[in-house]
Formats: sequence, C-alpha cells, structure tokens
Amino acid sequence: MNTSDYRDFLTACKKNLSKDKKISFQGDNSDIIVSEIFRNKEYVKQIAANIRNKFINTIDDNLIAFDKNFSSNGGIINWCVDYNDFLLKLDKTLQRNKVQKINLFSSYFTKELGIERFCEKNEYISDSESDDCIIFTPQFGIVSTGSLYLNFNSAYDMELVLNSKLKIFVLSICDFLFKPEETEIFSHLYSVYKNQVNFPYLTSLYTPSPVSKNENVYLFLVDNGRSNVLENKEIRSALTCISCDACKNVCPVYKIIGEEPYNNVFSGPVANVILPFMENTENYKHLCFSCASCGNCSAVCPIKIPVSELIVANKKYFFENKLMEMKDERFAKTIGKCVSARKKMNSKKWLKNFRLRYLNNSKLLDEYKFEKSTFNQQYIDNRYEK
Ligand code: SF4
Repeated sequence: MNTSDYRDFLTACKKNLSKDKKISFQGDNSDIIVSEIFRNKEYVKQIAANIRNKFINTIDDNLIAFDKNFSSNGGIINWCVDYNDFLLKLDKTLQRNKVQKINLFSSYFTKELGIERFCEKNEYISDSESDDCIIFTPQFGIVSTGSLYLNFNSAYDMELVLNSKLKIFVLSICDFLFKPEETEIFSHLYSVYKNQVNFPYLTSLYTPSPVSKNENVYLFLVDNGRSNVLENKEIRSALTCISCDACKNVCPVYKIIGEEPYNNVFSGPVANVILPFMENTENYKHLCFSCASCGNCSAVCPIKIPVSELIVANKKYFFENKLMEMKDERFAKTIGKCVSARKKMNSKKWLKNFRLRYLNNSKLLDEYKFEKSTFNQQYIDNRYEK
C-alpha cells in the first residue's frame, strides 16, 4: 500500500467508525499476572531487555560463537541471506535426504519464509503425524551451548519433533539468548504476555548429539532483511522483540485498521517500526502514520522496547531523508506542533482544536478535530473501570 492508498483506507475506516462510535478497548492483565510470578516485575523486564539488547548489539560475535558450538555438537548450519536463498538451500537439503513427506509446524517465521507455499508447489506430502522430516521454529538459539530452545503446543508435538529422523529448524538471526538459565525469565514473560497465563508452555532445550554426530539435524539461520534494521542504530532495539503480540492487543489504531495496510506476516506496532527497513521504504513508510502516540505499546512491552518512540524516530528519519510526500510532511508538521508533548496531548479539547485551526493555514486539516479524551486517557479509564 502506498501513502495515498493508505490515506483513502483511513478515510474509509473513519467513515465506518462514525457509524458505530463505540470502540471497545481490551484491557491487558499481563502486568497483574506477571506480578504474581515475579516480586519485582520491572526489574525482571529490565533484565530481559538488557539480555536481548546485549545480544543484538554484539550479534556478529554471538552468531559466530553459536555456529561453532552448534556445529561441534553435530548439527549442520546453513546461513541464508533471504527467503529465496533459504528456499533454494532447503530444496537441496530435502532432495539430498530423499524427503517425500514433511511435517511442517507452522509459525510466523515459516509463513514469512513462504515454506507452506513452497511445499505445496513442489508437491511434498504434508503429514502432521509423520516423524520422517519435521520443519520447526525454535523460540531461541542458545549461544553458549549451541542448543535450541523449543516451545511446543502439546506433548504429542514434542515427541514428534524430538524423535524425528530428519530435523530441520528455521531461526531468524535475531532470536538468541546467551545462556540456558536465561530461558526461565523469557518463557514466563512469553506465556504471560502472549496468552495471559502464568505457566510456561511445554519446552525443551535441544542439543544435537555430540556422540553420534547427527547428520540429520539442520539449522537454517535466515537474515531476510534484519541486517538492514540492524544498520539503523536508532531502531535496532525493535529486533529484541519476542513476538508476544502484547502491543498489538493494546493498540487502538491496530484495532481499527487491522491487518490490511500491512500486507505482510508482520503487523501491529512493532511492524510499523521494522517493515520499512526489512522490506522497502516506499511500500511501508505509510505505517509510521499508524500511530496515535498513546504509548500503550511501550508501556505493555515485556522487553521494554520503546515502540511508540521508535515510530516517531522513523517519522523523523523519513522527514530528514526527504522520503515523505509533501502533503504528508505538512500534515505531520502541523499535527506535531499540536501534540509534540504529553502535556499538549492532555490539554483541554477546545485548546487542542484551537491550536489546530490556528496552525492549519492550508485547510489541509479542515476535516480533523480532537476528541475530548486521548487514546491514552481512554485506555487508562477503561483499564481501571474493570
Ligand atoms: S514489541 Fe510487541 S510483540 Fe514485541 S515483545 Fe514487545 S509487546 Fe511483544
């Protein structure tokens, strides 16, 4: 979607909204549940953030160390630049091992890489009960031991994966922890923020066998645009995301616009930050407007990613690099003057609308007006009413 298509899309959303003026915000109980597990939840979140940021900031050395440990355990690593490179290497591996049936455990990452479509196109038999060949996405790789941290939906899945003759794991270059002990914090945070439950999933730390030098364990480490995000120091912390979707659930804008403007496996607040760099700026820069600056995403994130601040950083980057359309640039400048600080956002409705009219010398924003309370205030009211 380009920026003008997106503008039309937003106008249509606005019309639909005016028909049914009530938007119900879902309250988020994650912080309450996590307080039952950890005495000091903010401290735990900070530890999690530090671990993930440390990994991302020293990613090259860590990936080399992981490769060395995983290979010495008997696993085979394939490094892939993007999904095309990955599918080519996957095809060769499947042919070399004479695979006919595949048991594919679907995940965001397998969808991102297009494995489902690849299997259909190449007429591999999909068999969810087969343990001949599984394709699975671990939650994390563990640098110090060369292991994989696996998360299962059921004991049956666990048995299938661990007993499979040919194990093919696919992992993004960013999903790593340093030590096995760190998985405890992350498994709790993930289960709470993803599913609002205080017990972790069925998990296993899998290390290829060092004795038998298992040639049937493959790990595909795929970049697929992540190093473009890494190059941008200001927003690289978005790659510490653990895909818990908590920010999606509390985002009022996502609630209205849904998946459509993303046209991608990634969606929601963190996708607004990374997609323009992971994919291409032209088709995804409109996403920096998918934000009401309510701050809910930053507040809820278990890894303390300042998501809404990173969206602002993207806007700034697009302005400075002249990547915005003129109309959008004027629009954002005018709105920015009205809401550039939380104090201004929280000021009285008449004052905000007065400022907007006063600054709107091009009639660009004639159809816009501020409501009585901000998204942030509505979210807080809604949360404490429960
Ligand atoms: S950015 Fe969103 S999906 Fe990622 S860890 Fe934070 S809350 Fe979860």
